[in-house]
Amino acid sequence: VKETGKNGYQLFTKNMNEKVQTRVSLERELRRAVQQGEFDLVYQPKVSLSTGRVTGAEALIRWNKDGRIVSPQDFIPVAEETGHIIAIGRFVLNKACEDAVKWHKLGFKDLDVAVNLSARQFRDENLIDSVCGIIDSTGIDPRLLGLEITENTMMEDIQTTIIALAHLVQRGVKISIDDFGTGYSSLSYLKKFPIHVLKVDRQFIKDIPDDTDDIAISTAIINLAKGLNLQVVAEGVETQEQLDFCREHGCDGIQGYFFSRPLSCDAFMELLLSGRTL
Ligand code: C2E
Ligand code: CA
Ligand code: CA
Ligand code: CA
Repeated sequence: VKETGKNGYQLFTKNMNEKVQTRVSLERELRRAVQQGEFDLVYQPKVSLSTGRVTGAEALIRWNKDGRIVSPQDFIPVAEETGHIIAIGRFVLNKACEDAVKWHKLGFKDLDVAVNLSARQFRDENLIDSVCGIIDSTGIDPRLLGLEITENTMMEDIQTTIIALAHLVQRGVKISIDDFGTGYSSLSYLKKFPIHVLKVDRQFIKDIPDDTDDIAISTAIINLAKGLNLQVVAEGVETQEQLDFCREHGCDGIQGYFFSRPLSCDAFMELLLSGRTL
């Protein structure tokens, strides 16, 4: 028993060491990645359910690390903890606005672009100046820029969040609540925040139509959004049934593999030029 216990302990420390090692090298690599421009954006089309047309896209970051693509889930948390997210976030916002201006010049004048903001960025006192500076330097119409914030980010410091959001909204940008229903917000806060769009998380969409609980939850979220006069967009729509569900329940728009996976900027522009609709 003693033997096993000791081995168990050794295994545990080895595991811990490996984790710390991975983290330390990831930190170093992230710094290099920012400096050497190893990040890129892909765009997932958003489609209107009333017209079937592409209305815009969500920018999603990709890290091209030595020829291998690393998913944001594997590095955004470390980037947040180490503060690299500030530089990364600035890159994302700037590139997304530049690319959107390209689409507008191509003749797709109403397309919007949405960028994900992490909690740490939201706590950065330079955020508003940074966003406004990028709006000015890229020349994007701020009404075509959306910022996606999770409900947990909003709840971290409610008063600061409301003030920051109010500034951004005054500048003309649109605010979406991302991953709605997966976090810790109280419904009563919804009416206090200046927001425009509520996104139904993929978690509630992915098992429709089999899971009746998810049908109930998604229906409730959609109705809540409509009651509050917010736009509602469902994410992670992969099947015809899920699309039908969203349409029948009055979602304004959808994103998901059913219509398109995230695309490179060039591939997204090809999609636009093809005129493909839902
Ligand atoms: P999110 O904001 O909820 O983005 C949606 C995620 O679902 C994306 O994963 C997207 O590729 C994926 N997705 C979209 N449609 C489908 C579908 O039909 N089926 C399935 N299985 N997945 C679908 P991705 O690109 O790996 O991003 C993961 C998360 O990383 C994002 O979740 C977001 O929280 C974060 N993230 C991505 N880019 C950025 C960024 O530039 N800045 C920050 N702060 N976070 C980012
Ligand atoms: Ca998002
Ligand atoms: Ca989301
Ligand atoms: Ca999500």
